[in-house]
Amino acid sequence: MNLKGLILAGTAALALSTAGSAEEAPTQTVEHVRGNLHVVFSPAGNVGISAGEDGVFLIDDQYAPMTEALKAAVAGVSTDPIRYVINTHFHGDHSGGNENLGKEGSVIVAHDNVRQRMKAGTFIEVFNMKTPPAVKAALPSVTFNSEMSLHLNADEARIIHFENAHTDGDSMVYFKETDVLYTGDVFFNGLYPFIDLKYGGSIGGMIAAVEKAAGMIGDTTKVVPGHGPVTDKAGLIAYGDFLKDTRDIIAGQKAAGKSLAEIVAMNPFAKYEGKVRGFNAEWKNQYAGFIYDSL
Ligand SMILES: [Zn+2]
Repeated sequence: MNLKGLILAGTAALALSTAGSAEEAPTQTVEHVRGNLHVVFSPAGNVGISAGEDGVFLIDDQYAPMTEALKAAVAGVSTDPIRYVINTHFHGDHSGGNENLGKEGSVIVAHDNVRQRMKAGTFIEVFNMKTPPAVKAALPSVTFNSEMSLHLNADEARIIHFENAHTDGDSMVYFKETDVLYTGDVFFNGLYPFIDLKYGGSIGGMIAAVEKAAGMIGDTTKVVPGHGPVTDKAGLIAYGDFLKDTRDIIAGQKAAGKSLAEIVAMNPFAKYEGKVRGFNAEWKNQYAGFIYDSL
């Protein structure tokens, strides 16, 4: 299996999300993707930027304390107003800036379930991350059920929902003219992914979403993951192969009657050591648990 696409390029520090790390001054690095599209790498994951004649459109917006740093990074590309923000899902590292940006006039767009989750408030045990019910300005005011398009900056941004993958409200954004796909957290490039089972995610849904997305794009499409470096269709397919292989490893052991603790003690993902990273030393075991509990 070709794992080149899974090897982390080592640019952005990718520690996800303890409340503590969110409050530290983040490092924001902007990379040009293609045409009028950019990506911001940060400790809270990747933000997409479309900038052009109609203003700025962001894909995700990090944690709330990072908004000023994010805006400074965006201003390096365009100082026009941030007119739209789409949240690829509800997690705080992708929607935490909504309140700040919403109060400044950005229209927030997301799948129906993102609004519901944010409105209710959430608790993610594995990160000990409690997010209270969102205020009105932070909630997506435009929601959709299956897919929708924004016609901006001489492109069509097709926003497509994928069911029960990383969460129950995941969207990807495909820019038709520029031929760039922003995947959100369905795709962790070079990292063992987080699968939010409590809020509707599943390993089967992750695999199905990656396969469907790979089927939508071409060999020269640029693919921007939710976390990790920019890649292409081959990188997305390699990640899908990794998801399937790790699922099969855990499924085989579970079918043989092994408990999760017994499976983890066997170091089931030894072959990925040095190739796929975790947020911390225990993360690969957490990932094994997400699969085990999904099956
Ligand atoms: Zn996420």
